[in-house]
Amino acid sequence: MGRRFIVFRAHCLAIVAFFSGNTVGLPQSIGAGGDPCRSLVPAAMGGPMLRDNNRIMLRWLSTANYELVYRGQVFLLDAYFDQGPRSRPTGVIPDRVVKTDAIFIGHAHYDHMSDAAPIAQMTNAKVIGAPITIDTAEKLGLPPAQGITVTGGETLQFPGVTVDAALAQHPVLPRVVLEALGKVYELDAGPATPAQDAAEAAIAAKGTFSPDVITKGTIAYGFTFATGFKLLWMDSAGPLTEGVRKLAAKLAPVDIAIVSFAGHPVAQMQSSSDPRNREAVPAAHFFAGPS
Ligand SMILES: [Zn+2]
Repeated sequence: MGRRFIVFRAHCLAIVAFFSGNTVGLPQSIGAGGDPCRSLVPAAMGGPMLRDNNRIMLRWLSTANYELVYRGQVFLLDAYFDQGPRSRPTGVIPDRVVKTDAIFIGHAHYDHMSDAAPIAQMTNAKVIGAPITIDTAEKLGLPPAQGITVTGGETLQFPGVTVDAALAQHPVLPRVVLEALGKVYELDAGPATPAQDAAEAAIAAKGTFSPDVITKGTIAYGFTFATGFKLLWMDSAGPLTEGVRKLAAKLAPVDIAIVSFAGHPVAQMQSSSDPRNREAVPAAHFFAGPS
């Protein structure tokens, strides 16, 4: 046997912070009795911090965004919070973020990094990403001294946390499928107004569509905490790479693996059994423990 699946142990997975786009004037832990794990306010927005040095808080903040809190540090995994007028508030308002120590970016598409530069400017946070990610972030205002470039294979140290970076790969959906999907959304939700279109275009400009993102710009991160807890985060779900395979060999079994699901309209296309998408489910490699 020897296989282990998601185990939460004594760590907490905080509830999602969808409640309002405006947290100003609200108590730090609405209805939570001061419990950081139940707070509706992310720590990055001034919500309560953990007091126990052996607890880790992981909070989902919509799409591939997460907040990771440990030993007084706040890490953001991806930074796409202002998602436009047709999306619900995420609970993070970029120009009101009060604490972030590091922002890890999986890849440089706007829906993963659009708010990284302004948050880094306000909080002095480091931004970690592939060369094209850091280059794009600097064009969007990231102070160069705050960018940390990784290409895969690096190990970064933070107080009580070791972070391993691996070169992953972004999936590619055929253009005709993407166009048809866009049409489906428009038919279902209705077309955007000109004002909505303009707002969404402005957000879409806060990233890059360079082809380098696909094979050179997508990074998986493995977090190993001093408690022994291990978390894998991949914000894209392309084919398995040699880098991801090596990371899995180093980390497996992990306690939590957060792995994106590519937006195939036909679920079977995600499966490794389909020859057009062979080995596109790398998560399984991170759950295999020593036999
Ligand atoms: Zn992407």
